[in-house]
Amino acid sequence: MRRVSILGATGSIGQNTLNLISQRKDQFKVVALTGSRNIELLAQNAIDFNAEVVAIADDSKLSDLKELVASYNIEVFGGQNGLLEASSRQADWVMSSIVGSAGLLPGLKALETGANLALANKESMVAAGPIMKKASETYGGKLIPVDSEHSAISQVIRGEDRGSLSKIIITASGGAFRDLKYSDLADVTPDQASKHPNWDMGQRITIDSASLFNKALEIIEAKEFFELSASKIEVLIHPQSLVHAIACFCDGGMKAHIGPPDMRHAIAYALNEEKRFNLILEEVDLSKIGALEFEKPDFLKYPALKLGFEVLEHGGLAGAAFNAAKEEALNNFLDFKLSFLGMADVVRATMDELSSRNQLNSEVELEAVLDIDLQARLIAKTFVNKL
Ligand code: NDP
Repeated sequence: MRRVSILGATGSIGQNTLNLISQRKDQFKVVALTGSRNIELLAQNAIDFNAEVVAIADDSKLSDLKELVASYNIEVFGGQNGLLEASSRQADWVMSSIVGSAGLLPGLKALETGANLALANKESMVAAGPIMKKASETYGGKLIPVDSEHSAISQVIRGEDRGSLSKIIITASGGAFRDLKYSDLADVTPDQASKHPNWDMGQRITIDSASLFNKALEIIEAKEFFELSASKIEVLIHPQSLVHAIACFCDGGMKAHIGPPDMRHAIAYALNEEKRFNLILEEVDLSKIGALEFEKPDFLKYPALKLGFEVLEHGGLAGAAFNAAKEEALNNFLDFKLSFLGMADVVRATMDELSSRNQLNSEVELEAVLDIDLQARLIAKTFVNKL
């Protein structure tokens, strides 16, 4: 039996992962499950899957969680140290699906045990790609992409000579507002931004999909995973969300990955160590779909994507700063303190400020990443207050 843990078990990716594990209970032993606040779901999952360890990030919920699992043989931990304890338990495969940069240290801890890390938490690759890759090399655990686009890229380049790859196209659905004009976006609300046309995901990534901040993170993630330069990455809006990535080769040939807009497809591929998993999902019937559309994104409507390409080109600590500023801007949008369009303004102003202080060029080392994350959040806050 393979020993598996899920960091961020109570979220959308975590629940989809448990759904797959429940289809093959005889093949997997659940080691650790973690959550942030949702102790009821975490406790129920821990009991149902006979987990060895649970950890809750919010320390104030620890005693309630202990009570919920008191009659079971489950170790319980709380707070940041508790998350790290759960992440360091020996497992063969760990799903990193905490949302935001909060997923960085637990994911790194899991890699340090030598486990294979399935990475949904793109933020850790964006902020600290070189550190994640070094830990993977040092301890021997594989980094496996879970984002549907990156899972698709790994599938379309498999077996190909990397020298023959001329470009990767990553698709974007366009999110909740793809049919609106820039001028229509001034007053949109968090509720409206949280309605994705094709995917059912956590709220933060859904809003990031509407602004294309998510795609900005993904192009940086693609650079880190597949060693691609900015000139070799293109983004196209593809409203049907069926083609997730296309590899373009030097002979004019292209290989596209088509799959249902259901994260279980990419999670199952990662769970099965990048081999096919016999999954019962609704079949994509291309004859009913008829047409697959693609168009270039408008950088004026999606300034976040333009910023993402600049960050990708810059490298160094820019990814960590960009992600932190974006997280802070999103917090303020969710709290109605910042408009939807204001998010990109705040992130741009934060990046300009850090760049003028020459703080983005240092080596990507853990202490520097954590420090720039903190600084970017503080600066972003001041710009939110000024806007
Ligand atoms: P959700 O918001 O649905 O779930 C987030 C998980 O992280 C929950 O378990 C939550 O706990 C936990 N969490 C939240 N804050 C903290 C914290 N500060 N410390 C520790 N744990 C925390 O997110 P998703 O599942 O949608 O996304 C997870 C990751 O996967 C993100 O990085 C996202 O970008 C990526 N991803 C998601 C996709 C999707 O389809 N959802 C697709 C591709 C990538 P609790 O529930 O208790 O609050």
